[in-house]
Amino acid sequence: MRSDHLAVSVIGLGSMGSALASVLLEQGYETTVWNRSAHKAQSLVDRGARLAATPAEAVAASPLIIACVLDYEALHTVLDPVARLLAGKVLVNLTSGSPEQAHQTIAWARSHSADYLDGAIMTTPPGVGSPEMMFLYSGSAAAFEAHRPTLAALGDPLYLGADPGLASLYDAALLGLMWSTMTGWLHGTALVGADQTPATAFTPVAIRWLTTVAGFLTTYAPQVDAGRYPGDDATVDVQIAAIDHLLHAATSRGIDNALPLLLKSAMERAKAAGHGSDSYASVIEVLKNPAVGQ
Ligand code: NAP
Repeated sequence: MRSDHLAVSVIGLGSMGSALASVLLEQGYETTVWNRSAHKAQSLVDRGARLAATPAEAVAASPLIIACVLDYEALHTVLDPVARLLAGKVLVNLTSGSPEQAHQTIAWARSHSADYLDGAIMTTPPGVGSPEMMFLYSGSAAAFEAHRPTLAALGDPLYLGADPGLASLYDAALLGLMWSTMTGWLHGTALVGADQTPATAFTPVAIRWLTTVAGFLTTYAPQVDAGRYPGDDATVDVQIAAIDHLLHAATSRGIDNALPLLLKSAMERAKAAGHGSDSYASVIEVLKNPAVGQ
């Protein structure tokens, strides 16, 4: 068992909270747990966790409180009645929510003299404890620095800044990227599958392509920041011509085309706004302002 200052309390033992508590226990932290449905604590208690009978006991047990419940409503249901016990402690909230909820919660925590870090977990429960997996944090820099080693036990901790909403905002942006990418991959998989190519044959090629696409993002990020989009690699006009091949191939095979049609419409609006000879990065002008190119 580690020394007392490495005591941690975990509030919420759903799939994710249980994984967090389990890794902390494995890493030798003195781990106190509380969950609304107490039976979910049993396997952790069998492995050495202390069971708090109430949220008050959980908060009192450790200088660092990690909360991971369903949503902010549940968070406040659990912690509001014991908020005064948070004074002088650090609350790390890994419950998913919006940037606005993070702003409200840091103000609430500070009003009770607690330090607050908002977090977002960029993995599923089996990934907790892997140094490859990103955990995003924003809010109190002092809290982050003080507890960095404990946070590093859970995954790779990335501190995004003092604005507490940043972790939630990145989380939303990254999930959007994930869904777009996975749906693009599924669309491609359905397309080649219509001509009897199995997903397992297509996917290694798709993954190599994603590495090339990652390079495009690196090229385009400074263009976005500068608001200038030199079309010296592939222009929006060229991409509009190319997406017609995708639409044709998919239509001929009876594949749903809602996604490529949406993409084509964004490209056409960028062209209508004068970006036909610019790079694909210029499509951001349409996304930032839905009136552009209408
Ligand atoms: P889950 O398995 O459904 O667990 C939900 C937890 O919230 C349970 O501990 C549950 O207690 C508690 N809870 C719900 N309503 C409550 C209330 N009114 N009062 C007190 N406790 C309440 O969900 P999860 O997968 O662990 O997710 C927890 C958080 O992590 C969510 O915000 C989720 O978005 C985030 N997250 C999850 C993943 C993932 O892959 N699972 C990944 C990233 C982020 P009971 O056990 O008593 O019901």
